[in-house]
Amino acid sequence: MTDQSKKPVARDPNLVVFEISQTLTSSLVLEEVLATVARQIGEAMDVWSVDIHNYERESDTLVYEACWNRDGITAEDLAYVGTRVSLKERPDWRRVTNQKLLVESHIDDPDLPVEEREALARWGYKSALDAPLMCGNEVFGVIGITETRYVRCFTAEELEFFAKLCRPAAVAIHHAKMFRAQEESNRLMASLLDASRAITSTVELEETLDLVASEALKVVGATQSAIYEFDREADALVYRARCVGEGGKQYDALGSVYPLAEYAGERTILEGAVIVEEHLSQTDLDPGRRASMERFGEQSSLSVPLASDHEPVGTLRLYVMDRERHFDEAECDLLSGLAELAGAAIANARLYRRQHEQRRQLVTLFETSSLIASSFDVNTVMEHLEAEVLRLVGGEGGATEVRLRDVAGAYVPLQQVLGDAGAEPPAGIAEPDDLAVRAVTDLATVCEQRDGHWCLAVPFTAKGRAEGYIEACCTRRSGFRRDELELIEILANQAAVAVENAALYRKIELQAVTDGLTGLYNHRFFYERLYQEVARAHRYEIPLSVLLLDIDDFKQFNDTFGHPLGDQVLRDVGEILGKGIRRGIDIAARYGGEEFAIILPHTPVTGAERVGSRLKKKVETTVAEGVGLPPAGTGAAIVGERLRQSIEEALFPGPGGRRRVHVTISMGIADLGRESHTGEELVRNADKALYLAKRKGKNRIEVF
Ligand code: GH3
Ligand code: MG
Ligand code: MG
Repeated sequence: MTDQSKKPVARDPNLVVFEISQTLTSSLVLEEVLATVARQIGEAMDVWSVDIHNYERESDTLVYEACWNRDGITAEDLAYVGTRVSLKERPDWRRVTNQKLLVESHIDDPDLPVEEREALARWGYKSALDAPLMCGNEVFGVIGITETRYVRCFTAEELEFFAKLCRPAAVAIHHAKMFRAQEESNRLMASLLDASRAITSTVELEETLDLVASEALKVVGATQSAIYEFDREADALVYRARCVGEGGKQYDALGSVYPLAEYAGERTILEGAVIVEEHLSQTDLDPGRRASMERFGEQSSLSVPLASDHEPVGTLRLYVMDRERHFDEAECDLLSGLAELAGAAIANARLYRRQHEQRRQLVTLFETSSLIASSFDVNTVMEHLEAEVLRLVGGEGGATEVRLRDVAGAYVPLQQVLGDAGAEPPAGIAEPDDLAVRAVTDLATVCEQRDGHWCLAVPFTAKGRAEGYIEACCTRRSGFRRDELELIEILANQAAVAVENAALYRKIELQAVTDGLTGLYNHRFFYERLYQEVARAHRYEIPLSVLLLDIDDFKQFNDTFGHPLGDQVLRDVGEILGKGIRRGIDIAARYGGEEFAIILPHTPVTGAERVGSRLKKKVETTVAEGVGLPPAGTGAAIVGERLRQSIEEALFPGPGGRRRVHVTISMGIADLGRESHTGEELVRNADKALYLAKRKGKNRIEVF
């Protein structure tokens, strides 16, 4: 109050106020109105600068909105627009905002509060005068005039004049703000409408969530948005969708699971069913939420719970990285609307997904059943099964393996079973793990978590034995869903059916070529093989012999001992013949009645004698080609003689079950060459030789 050089107000104050009112009401654009108010009041009051703040009652904060400077506005001035000052730090301002007073401060006032003095000093102000901007009885802002050139004590007239100026200024600013809010609300409404149209246009869950994320970001400006779906079964949030705006960051991978047990703050939000606004600056922030906000550099976040039929289905979250952002009521209302829509859409999409999955499962079951009904090939069925289970669990890094029990009782991978069923059990296969061992021992599904994975072993049980098992693992933290488990178990049951069917089929197939009494091949199969072997022998020019045997005086045997014992003799002779020939090479058949026929491939009648030099060479190449040959010297006559002797020496069961009866056979042999070129000729000529053997006294062999 040292400097007394006060400047008088040059013009009629009422006229100035009137003029200002005129210009102010001519615009509704908020920025224009603020700039005009600041300039006109600055000029009318003849001060150094003017500041206008918006007052946020809820957060008790002033937000810098506009300024005017006698020297012109600098970029530095503009940079302050948007900055916030809490009234906790400048309590003196409460006299303006709460008591609605005009507050004058001077740098040389010894009673000035420290923080006010510091504020004045920082800007180089010597004097400042602040007044409330009011609408009705409500303060919505503060307008301040400052002087840097000298300490200026305002006169009573000046104060009155300033107060008068503030009234039309407040009205103009308030109108412009209302208009801006209306515009904003219209814009939000339009985007909500767009959003709802977009969201309801799809039933695909992923697409729906993507849309909700992007529409939410559009509706209110934020750095990025995310949607977490609530998985009730797993009691976890699953990161489903995001929309990243400018300055946003890639968070965790989509699909990440956050068990609510570990994220208590998230549960509160999800179940609270109210929008929650959080700022890093808050002292009472949930520690979990703070850690997460710090980790991603979020200043503010808004969480909107998504619900359907009052059931939580997820959380929509908006993140602001670059500044602390407060969301207003209109924005929250619109987000609530969007959330309601999104909640319903998620519920619908889930329903659709569930139905789609159920349909897909039915199709899988149907396909598997059809496959089993149409194919007796276990491998085809198992490969299908493996693919189906992999489709279920494979999407997220899962894996699956089917193993089947081989003849030796070992559980081997499919590829190993694909080969020859009679082959040696393959070496070097990892033993089934303990999970599988438990499943095949207990004949029950085993499911447990190990090394962060969920592992499952389901046995294929048939007739109280595990014919194989399927193992699957999935990387989902929530593990296998109940319906997935059920489906895998049903598939395993079908696999068991397939294994049984295949075994049955093999049995029937064998029955078709086997003689029921002796277990040797039947007449039909004998000819089938004879034609094949004759063709092969001609192609490679290798020998081939046929033996025809007939039990001697068998009618008499039957008459003496009865038909059942006769049958036993036929069985025993069949067994002796089967054992007396090369397994897998020679073919012994029951030709009919008490007659038997044997094909000896690669076998001349008498040892290697008949293998000529040209033939020998051929035989060697055949050996090189891997076609097996009889040991040198074992001609058909030798084989025949050996068989005849074996039967002659054998004791067959007689009456009372004791083995004491002898039986003999006669045999005719023919081999390829000379008069035997076709299968029929071979048999006919062997039969001629057999006839000769009978004529010559039976129990002997004759070569054609
Ligand atoms: P030969 O030494 O000349 O061959 O005299 P054979 O009595 O063995 O010959 P024959 O052709 O006169 O009689 C064959 C007999 O074989 C007639 C039949 O009772 C008997 N037979 C044929 N098939 C079976 C069968 O399946 N079971 C039994 N027990 N006997 C059979
Ligand atoms: Mg006969
Ligand atoms: Mg006979």
